[in-house]
Amino acid sequence: MSKPILLLNCGSSSIKYQVIDAETEEVAATGLIQRIGEEVGTIDHTHGEKHSAEREFPDHRVALQVLVRTFDEYGPSLSDVVAVGHRCVHGGERFRETTVIDDEVIAALRELIPLAPLHNPPGIAGIEAARAALPDVPHVAVFDTAFFSTLPPAAYTYAIDAAVAKQYGIRKYGFHGTSHAYVSAKVAEIVGKPASELNIIVAHLGNGASISAIKGGVAVDTSMGLTPLAGLVMGTRSGDVDPGLHAYLAKQSGMSLDEVDSFLNKKSGLIGLCGVNDFRDLLPQVDAGEPAAVLTLDVYVHRLVSYIGSYLAILGRVDVLAFTAGVGENSDPVRARTLKALEPLGFILDEQANLVRSREPRAISTPDSPVTVLVVPTNEELAMARETAAAIGA
Ligand code: ADP
Repeated sequence: MSKPILLLNCGSSSIKYQVIDAETEEVAATGLIQRIGEEVGTIDHTHGEKHSAEREFPDHRVALQVLVRTFDEYGPSLSDVVAVGHRCVHGGERFRETTVIDDEVIAALRELIPLAPLHNPPGIAGIEAARAALPDVPHVAVFDTAFFSTLPPAAYTYAIDAAVAKQYGIRKYGFHGTSHAYVSAKVAEIVGKPASELNIIVAHLGNGASISAIKGGVAVDTSMGLTPLAGLVMGTRSGDVDPGLHAYLAKQSGMSLDEVDSFLNKKSGLIGLCGVNDFRDLLPQVDAGEPAAVLTLDVYVHRLVSYIGSYLAILGRVDVLAFTAGVGENSDPVRARTLKALEPLGFILDEQANLVRSREPRAISTPDSPVTVLVVPTNEELAMARETAAAIGA
């Protein structure tokens, strides 16, 4: 019997969606609505063929209504859908696992808005619009933070006044959890051992990037923190900086704290260092010896190597390092430079294997490398579909 699940990932001006059958794990449809709130938006819907249209989407409610009509017109039928899974960025301390949504859950999500002011409001708007458009099926929230609810206090506690931290919910939460969970489970499958026997480092290197240390199937540390700004160098986000930078820059430049926050989120990382945020644009400049590009790649790799070394120390022993997401899956020079630096620690690169391009998981370390290094394409939508199905007992 088929069990189609509609998966929604609502951003402030976009909605990505897929229908995945929880039984066969086949993708029945994919789509993207863009430029919600602008005069002209677009919807691209693929079910067999791709259908594209332009129209105005004043808000998420209208976008969801159009989405339902698009399914009516081009298929597949939404009447068979057994649940809707929603990607929720921040679950705070309250949501430690995938949760079936009711009015009380929505109220609790609203209370979490201060922790994720950019991400949670569009997520809530999407949930409300989808519940109105598809009122007869369960809606389920899948949290980016849930996989990291197992972090030990030593890893999630910031060394600040404990009462203030408690009052405002200030701690490390971690993000991209759906991807880290999916990839680490896949690693166990690939190496043919139970997750409980493996120590794994997952480097999720996309436009946003994070890295996690997973001991016996349980996350014990990760690079993102209270917000998704911490940790690795990203496309437009700085990752780790001196916490004193905010006050210093605000005083020296006259920027408000909101402006400093936006500067670190949108004008930093790769784009801040060399003007491009995509490795496909950066690497040719590195090959041409462009100094800013060379420094950018050096900073990126230095940070990544520091985290891997730190997680090796925390785990004591690493069985597998897995690269995933856009950069991790596709950029062999980033992987090669990272592993070159880690060679003395037992990460031995197979240079030929590293050059293979594929959508399949693959090893890029030599057979006698003490640590197995894998490239494992992530699939957050499939992981969300599994989580959603499990939450409704399908
Ligand atoms: P996100 O989901 O965070 O938006 P992705 O995981 O899709 O990001 O990763 C997007 C990034 O992956 C791009 O910005 C680019 O830097 C990198 N990327 C994608 N394809 C390639 C490629 N063929 N070679 C090198 N880098 C790539």
